[in-house]
Amino acid sequence: MDTGKIIGLSILGAFILLIIFMIFRSLLIRRPKPEQTDYSPRFIEQEKVVAHMIEAIQFETITLPNNEIENNIFLEYHSFLERTYPLIMQKAEKTIINRYSVIYKYLGSDENLLPVALLAHQDVVPAPDEGWEFPPFSGHLTEDGYIYGRGSQDMKSQMISALEGLEILLAEGKIPKRTIYFCFGHDEELGGRYGAKKIVEFFKEKKIRFEYVLDEGGAIIDGKIMGIDNKIALVGTCEKGYADITLEAIKEGGHASTPTRRTAVGLLSEAVFKLEKNQMRPYFSQPVKEMLRDIAPFMNPFFKFAIANRDILSPLLKKVLTLASPFTNCIVRTTIAPTQLFGATTPNTLPSKAKANVNCRLNTGETIEKLISHIQKVVGKNISVKADDKSKNPSPVSNTDCDAFRAIRKTVYEAFDGFIMAPYPFIATSDSAYYHQVSDNVYRFTPLLKEESDANRIHGKNERITVDMLVTATRFFVRLYENTCL
Ligand SMILES: [Zn+2]
Repeated sequence: MDTGKIIGLSILGAFILLIIFMIFRSLLIRRPKPEQTDYSPRFIEQEKVVAHMIEAIQFETITLPNNEIENNIFLEYHSFLERTYPLIMQKAEKTIINRYSVIYKYLGSDENLLPVALLAHQDVVPAPDEGWEFPPFSGHLTEDGYIYGRGSQDMKSQMISALEGLEILLAEGKIPKRTIYFCFGHDEELGGRYGAKKIVEFFKEKKIRFEYVLDEGGAIIDGKIMGIDNKIALVGTCEKGYADITLEAIKEGGHASTPTRRTAVGLLSEAVFKLEKNQMRPYFSQPVKEMLRDIAPFMNPFFKFAIANRDILSPLLKKVLTLASPFTNCIVRTTIAPTQLFGATTPNTLPSKAKANVNCRLNTGETIEKLISHIQKVVGKNISVKADDKSKNPSPVSNTDCDAFRAIRKTVYEAFDGFIMAPYPFIATSDSAYYHQVSDNVYRFTPLLKEESDANRIHGKNERITVDMLVTATRFFVRLYENTCL
C-alpha cells in the first residue's frame, strides 16, 4: 500500500472514530427522571380573581415622569390592595418607599429562614383610547373570556395572582414558615430609579437578604425552534445590559445647493451601515450554556448531537443560532440596533452635525467599555461615540444549583403540565436587576401562557389576558408558596 493511501485511510479512520465519539456523547444526554409529585390542580374561585383583576386595571397608575409629581392614584391603588386582600394585609407590615412604592411584609413563623421577595411593578405605560376595542382602563371582560386593559399582562396580573395565591392559603388556615415580602415599585417602565432602586437601598440598610427574588420576565416559548415538541418555560437568571449609544458626525454645514464632497449625514450613514454589518461576536455565556444543558435531553437526536458536541461544533452552532431567529440571535450576542437618526431641521440645509442612536443589549460577560471600543473601531475616528448615562452592564448571573431554583422548577412542572424549564438570560430589563445586591437567586418568570399575538400587545393597543391565564397564574403562586414558604 502506498504512503498516500495509508495517510488517507488513517484520516478516514480518525474521522469515523470522532463521529462515533460524538454520537456516544449525545447518547449520554438522558432525560431527568420526572419528580414524584402529590400535586393536583386546585380549584380557584374564578369570579373573585377576575373581579380583582378588573378593578386593578381601573387604576390609571401610569408611570410618573418624575417623583416630585403629586399623584394620589398610587396611594389609592395601595388602599385597593389592602381592602381586597384582608387576610394578608391585616397582618402585613407596610412600608412606603419614596412616596409611591410599597413593601408588604408577611411575617413567617420561622425567623431562621431567609425571606423571599415577590416583585411586581404597579406602574403601566400610557394608553391613549385610540385603537382600543374597549377603553384601556375599563378592564372590560368579553364573553369569550378576555380581560382587556393596560397592565393586564404587564404586570398587574402577576401582582394580583401572587397576592391571591397567599390569600387563598391563609383562608385555608395555612401559616407560612418563611417570611414573604411583596415589593411593588412604581416606575419600572422608566428604569426603576425611584422605586426598585430605593427599595433595594432600604433592604441593604436593614441588612435583609432573600432566599430568592421572583419578578416578571422569562418567556414561555414554543420548543419547535429548538426541535422540541413541548413548550419551554425560560426563567431569567440574569439580565442583558442596556446602552443607548450616540454616534455623531461633524462636518461643515451650509446650503444643500452647494454640497461639500463628504457630508455629516453621509459619514454617519456609512458608520451606521458598517455597524449593522459588523456586530459583536457571538458566544455562549454561562446562562446560555445552562439553558442548552437543560433543554438538550428533550431535543431530537440531531439537535442533541449538536449540543452534546458544542465544544467541537461551536463555530457552526453559533452561526446557526445567530441566523435561526432574532430570538436565538439575541441570546448569544450583544445586539446593536440603530433606532434614531437626526440631521438638519430643514430639507435644504447641510447639517454641521448628524446624530444617530444605537440601542444595544449587552451579552452576559460584555461591558459598556468593550462595546464602545468595538463600535469606535468599526465606525472609525471621524465619528464620536458616547454612551448615555442610563446605560448599564449586564446583571450578575443567579445560581441554578440551589434549592430555590429547584423549587421554582418543580412549581413550573406542576402548574404547567408537560413543560420543560430552563434558565436563560432575560433579554429585556426589569426591576429585579437591582435585587442582585440582596440575593444570589434572582429569577424572572411570568407564569402566563399566552398566544404570540397576545404577547405583542404588551405596551401596545388592546393588551389583554384570558381568564384561564389568570387562574393558572394564581395556581402557580399557590403552589410556589406551598413548595417554598409553608
Ligand atoms: Zn413590566
